[in-house]
Amino acid sequence: MIFGAHESIAGGVSNAIERGKKATCDTIQIFNKSNNQWRAKKLEEKELDKYFQAIEETGVTVATSHTSYLINIASPNEELNQKSYYALKEEMERCELLKIPNLVIHPGSHTGSGEETGLNKIADSINKLFAELDSHNQVNLLLETTAGQGTNLGYTFEQLSYIIDKVEHNEKLGVCLDTCHIFAAGYPLVEPKDYKKTMEKFDEVIGLDRLKIIHINDSKKEFGSKKDRHEHIGKGFIGLDGFRNIVNDRRLKKIPMILETPKGEDLAEDIENLRVLRSLIKK
Ligand SMILES: [Zn+2]
Ligand SMILES: [Zn+2]
Repeated sequence: MIFGAHESIAGGVSNAIERGKKATCDTIQIFNKSNNQWRAKKLEEKELDKYFQAIEETGVTVATSHTSYLINIASPNEELNQKSYYALKEEMERCELLKIPNLVIHPGSHTGSGEETGLNKIADSINKLFAELDSHNQVNLLLETTAGQGTNLGYTFEQLSYIIDKVEHNEKLGVCLDTCHIFAAGYPLVEPKDYKKTMEKFDEVIGLDRLKIIHINDSKKEFGSKKDRHEHIGKGFIGLDGFRNIVNDRRLKKIPMILETPKGEDLAEDIENLRVLRSLIKK
């Protein structure tokens, strides 16, 4: 199995690689720019060199990037929708530059316009994105499963499949499954037979071939709560039993599993969570 964590790019993108190494990650997720600002600083040649050198020296890869939290391509507000679209396009271009194969996005919030309208807006944006991106751009865009808080879309597998079907050239459109989010949205993971049913459902509705990244987080809130609160592995409502099902599922062997749990400067929590995950694999 391939394990990793989201690591901070504070001080430059190359630092995230060093943090990943320190935290015992095989691979990592990063923000390709500051996650709470619209503007992105240009990636300088010197910084890129340092970043690629760090990857070569440590062997830690970057499996995916995560988009800024400001982006909402489901927004009915034209100005915000446009702004989101251009920010997303820029992030796709930055991932290409950083040779990151995937970019994870939260599908978006309809903020009162209704679910169908929101889902159609998302599909429209993605159609435009794939049409307008440079043809050499090979980055996959991954729709993340959500907990369904507020008016957030993407909390059922059917909603994600609806978007995928509406995108004309959807070869580069995939899915990121967040264990905390789907559990909170009402997909059980704890009992082996329930886990099996959840994955069968995913395969039937979306297709396991669309699954490119797993966000491996425990849930601070109970099953079906629709609340998105990440917890350390084994300390939440999914618990060790749930994660044992996931890390022993051979179909997921090549899918990077990324932690998005709280941590301090020394990354001790990442190290411990990764140790726990690896210890659950049956020999
Ligand atoms: Zn996310
Ligand atoms: Zn996530």
